[in-house]
Order: sequence, then C-alpha cells, then structure tokens
Amino acid sequence: MSIGSTVPSSPWTLAQRAARMNPSIIREILKVTEQPGVLSLAGGLPSPDTFPIEAMREATAKVLAEAPREALQYAASEGYGPLREWVAAQLQRQGQQVTPAQVLITTGSQQGLDLVGKVLVDAGAPVAVEAPTYLGALQAFAPYEPIFTNLAGDADGPLPEALTRLPHDAPGTRFAYLLPNFQNPTGRVMPEARRQALVQAAQAARVPLVEDNPYGDLWFDEAPPAPLAARWPEGVVYLGSFSKVLAPGLRLGYVVAPAELCPKLLQAKQAADLHTPGFNQRVVYEVIKGGFLDRHVPTIRARYKAQRDAMATALSAHMPAGSEWSAPHGGMFFWIRLPAGCNAMALLPGAVEAGVAYVPGEAFYAHAPDARTMRLSFVTLTPEEIGQAVAMLGGVLRRHLTEGLEETTP
Ligand code: PMP
Repeated sequence: MSIGSTVPSSPWTLAQRAARMNPSIIREILKVTEQPGVLSLAGGLPSPDTFPIEAMREATAKVLAEAPREALQYAASEGYGPLREWVAAQLQRQGQQVTPAQVLITTGSQQGLDLVGKVLVDAGAPVAVEAPTYLGALQAFAPYEPIFTNLAGDADGPLPEALTRLPHDAPGTRFAYLLPNFQNPTGRVMPEARRQALVQAAQAARVPLVEDNPYGDLWFDEAPPAPLAARWPEGVVYLGSFSKVLAPGLRLGYVVAPAELCPKLLQAKQAADLHTPGFNQRVVYEVIKGGFLDRHVPTIRARYKAQRDAMATALSAHMPAGSEWSAPHGGMFFWIRLPAGCNAMALLPGAVEAGVAYVPGEAFYAHAPDARTMRLSFVTLTPEEIGQAVAMLGGVLRRHLTEGLEETTP
C-alpha cells in the first residue's frame, strides 16, 4: 500500500498455519454440481433415504420428556457416559480391548482427526499417509504443518516395507494414517494378511498408527477382518463415526486412544468445543441402545450393494477400453483409473456440462497425484440414475479419446 493512499492497510496478519488451509476441492466441486440437471457422482453423501427419521423423532421426544434439563445443559468433555460404554462394548465385539474411559466422543470423526493432529504433530514432523488417502485428513493435519510422506502401496493397501523403511526415510514419523476398510477414496479393504504384516512392520519400526474406520460396517459380502487396533492396542489410535450408519448431520464420532494419550486428547477437545452436543449424544444413545443398528445397518448394506452393482454394470458397459477399476466390497466409492491421455481434472468442466460430475482423484494425494484417477460415489443416486450418469461419463471420455479435444496428459 503506497503512502498517502486513502485505503488503510489491513490490520490483520494471518497465522502461517492459515496459509496451509485450502478450500476442500470436493466442496468447491459440489457447488458446481449442485446445479439442477447434473447427476452427481461427486459427493460422498450418505443416502438420506437411510436416515432413521422416525426413530430419531421418538428418541428426541423421549429425551425431552425424561431428561430435558440435563440434555440441554453443558456436559462432560469426554462425552455422555452411556454412549461411551456403548461404543466400548461395540468395539469389544470386534476384538478390541477397550474400556469406556478410553472413548472420547467427538464432533464427527473429523474432529478426532483434528485433535490427533493437534496433540501429535509439530511443524516439520513427518506424518505418513496412503497414496491416495482421505482428503479431509490431509486438511485436518495440514495446519499443524507436518511433512507428509507417501506410503507406497498396492491393491491391498500400503506395503509393510514402506512402514519398515520409515525410520530411515522419514525419521521421527509421528504416526502413519491408515484406512483399512473400504478406503475413501479407493474403496479397497485391507486383507487379513496385510493387516498382520502392517502391524508387525509398524511395531518393528516403532511407528504408531492412526486407524480411521467410518465405513467398516458398510460391507456387502462379508465383514472385514479385525481392526489394526485389536492387534496393537497401545500403538493405535482408532477413529469411528455415526455418520454413515445413522446420519452425518448429528456430527457424532469417537476417538479410542491408548490410555497414555487420553488426557492430552481430552484437553485438546476441551479447548476446541468444551464437548460434543450432549443433546445429540443422548438422542443417539436412545436410538441405538436396544440394538437398533443391528436391524438398521443391514438395510443400508442392501441398498448400497444394489447401487454398487448398478455402477459395476454401467462401468463395464460404458467406460472406454483401458480404464481400470475393481468393484468395492463395501463403503461408498469406486476408484477409476482412466486410459492414457485422460486428465480427470481437465475433463471435469466438460463432464459437468454434459450433465455428470465426479471428483478428480488428484485431490486425494499429499504428493505426486495421479491425474488419471477419479472417485465415483454410488450411494446418492438411484440405480437408474447411476446408469444414466455413467453412460454420460463414458460418452464424455470416448469423445475426448477419439477427438482429442481436451487437455491431455501422457
Ligand atoms: N474419515 C473418512 C475416511 C471419511 O470419509 C469421513 C467423512 N467423509 C470422515 C473421516 C469424517 O466423518 P465424520 O466427521 O462425519 O464422522
């Protein structure tokens, strides 16, 4: 600003960490795709038809009738006791050794990621991630200024050797962030042997793990193998969520941490928001305490499986030769690698114009993005719409490949 200018310079100075914050590309894309007439395979939104509206209505009335003052008062930062007990019992069923005292209820598991970053990451400290990985975790950790290391992987997940090499490649790695079940964005599930090998490698390398599991209950054929946390309780922080099995608008998730980390995570939680809404916690506990999820989640699985099948059929029919994917066994996403000559980001505007949207895969990489990848969600559209959307997408790709009109990558 030049001297004598009539516009005063800004009184604000942004923190360095603010420079690390980026708008979520998915949210930006959602703005474009929410135009009428666009069939969106972009958003990772659970189907609203699965939200248990009647059960929520009844539980809300019950909480307001039986404990209205307690539900509307400030509450404990750790979370609502009965809900913490429920979570611990549920995780014990999948083989984890968890006490209610280790369960911290969070405002979505997204907050759990932020708290983990706050408590464990210093500026310049290495954090290892899958390539690709969940974009929201990169966003949550980035303000704490880690140096991200990509873990080399294959169709079963990160390679154990990649963890073994961390003390050499990235000494002082604070943790490796892993998504064993129906990963966002690739949809892949880590098989039993890979889980065992990864935990052994992590133990040998003394690299702790952060295991994010919002999709584990959404399996179509068989339940996934036991979580990593069941194999190394003192070396794994585990994150879970009610977003995909009840409703994301509740903003309810949880962190289960080894006892030595619990006090610091709790202090970070207190500073962040005092506590997760006690009202929501009580309502959700009321909904689930009698085994509701055991009846409800199978209906979500059946619905998503039919949508997965519709997408698999449509992809086989319409994708150009040279495209690669494998049908996921759970979760919400297909991950596609396009033929050479396709750049998913560059092709997006033309696709939206044609009436279909997706998320370009490059958003999901900390480093070295693969520009030929894209993520397609199969849970928000009906099977018929999925068929139409994939047909349109196939048309856009074919036109591009035959006419070569769009920007290309080698
Ligand atoms: N982790 C992963 C892998 C996710 O896909 C999501 C939601 N898209 C979250 C965490 C955050 O979920 P929530 O905060 O709704 O629990």
